[in-house]
Amino acid sequence: MSELCLYNTLSRKKERFEPLDSELVRIYSCGPTVYSYQHIGNMRPYLFADLLKRTLLYNGYRVRHVINVTDVGHLTDDADSGEDKMELAARESGMDIWQVAEKYTALYKADLEKLRVLPPDVWCKATDHIPQQIEMIRVLEEKGFTYSTDDGIYFDVSKDPGYGRLARIDLSSLRAGERIDGVSQKRHSADFALWKFSPTEGAARQMEWQSPWGVGFPGWHIECSAMSQAHLGLPFDIHTGGVDHVPVHHVNEIAQSENCFDVRPCVRTWMHEEFITFEGVKISKSTGGLYTVGDLEQMGIEPLAFRFFLLGAHYRQQQMFTDNAVVQAQTAYRRLVRHALDLRASGDGNAAAPAGGFRDRFHAAINDDLNLPQALAVVWEMVRTPDLGPREKWALLRDFDRVLGLDLAEARIERGEIDAEIEVLIEERNRARANSDFARADEIRDQLEVQGILLEDSSRGTRWRRA
Ligand code: AMP
Ligand code: ZN
Repeated sequence: MSELCLYNTLSRKKERFEPLDSELVRIYSCGPTVYSYQHIGNMRPYLFADLLKRTLLYNGYRVRHVINVTDVGHLTDDADSGEDKMELAARESGMDIWQVAEKYTALYKADLEKLRVLPPDVWCKATDHIPQQIEMIRVLEEKGFTYSTDDGIYFDVSKDPGYGRLARIDLSSLRAGERIDGVSQKRHSADFALWKFSPTEGAARQMEWQSPWGVGFPGWHIECSAMSQAHLGLPFDIHTGGVDHVPVHHVNEIAQSENCFDVRPCVRTWMHEEFITFEGVKISKSTGGLYTVGDLEQMGIEPLAFRFFLLGAHYRQQQMFTDNAVVQAQTAYRRLVRHALDLRASGDGNAAAPAGGFRDRFHAAINDDLNLPQALAVVWEMVRTPDLGPREKWALLRDFDRVLGLDLAEARIERGEIDAEIEVLIEERNRARANSDFARADEIRDQLEVQGILLEDSSRGTRWRRA
């Protein structure tokens, strides 16, 4: 059996994965700030964490996975200035801040479910862990890592000789080039807020708590240190997040956790996924472009086709989103579903039967730092090979789907169903044209075209074909 190797941002190397506890792997994933809808790019971190968890389960480990929800303390600027995103969203929407948090948390979880992201073993939120955060700050203060300014309690990075190792930050070079402006009372630009005081002027905050330092709210970084320690204990195995978290959020988490609890390293493996880039696609809530998984559904893209799209790129590579790319992914996904339906009809086979090396190759691909594109290539080769019978193939496909998460055993697209959907839309378009509703007629044509269906009108009616 192949060894599981994972790329560790801490060492900048692929390392053989060895859990701290031979039975249970403990993972913490930084979750979203729930001030708004999560856009389709925001889904990638959780899909990546899901693939990691499924790969560990495939390797026979038990997993305890924690995802947090940030419902306080994330400022609009990561450098401790700007407003709390949650307070701002509440003010702008006119909603109560707790309702804002509840609404966007529910929408986020519903989207994860549509994408078949396995629910974590623990959901936790920052506002449920205020005492733990205050206690950590108190310990850090006692150990001399903090100082106070007019607007809060700050972590003094110069007190931590190991500061910034994850991001290869060289504090001496930063300090040399630094200019501390008159506005900030921070001693060093990398110092960061542990606790912020509620403003004494202007609009009152909706979320604030008493603390030994005055009424206020916790900084963004301390919540993840407190929650990961509370739910996993230190050290734990794997911490995940987007690459944008490396230089600030995760570096600061390490500084807090290691100095507060004296556990070094506090996390053995740090894993970060790259961003999705958007080319030629308007992705903006304010201008009404494509934004959420729901928007994808509106344009005829099934959530699992989007999942399939995400499987097509390695998590450490940027992935470009275009309308075309996601439509192509949907076509391929549906092809795979059709294979699954054909194979499923032949009955269940034995997953442990000799399988022409396909299982080993699939396993080797996912164990090579979650190389899903490679694993998918093995899947296609397997479903097409003349060397295996349909029952063996179905057994293998179901086995692989434990990692792919495409719900192939439950695939709902029955043969002919897609074609029937197209016919219904064509009929609706004909009715619209008969009623001179050309806007609707054009909309339907465009919708089908996005799905790769081309219409040809003639005196004998409308025919369609795949592009
Ligand atoms: P935000 O709410 O914009 O701070 O995003 C929340 C998290 O989602 C970020 O910290 C990133 O790790 C991740 N993220 C945001 N945009 C993208 C993207 N385009 N692709 C992948 N991940 C993203
Ligand atoms: Zn975090």
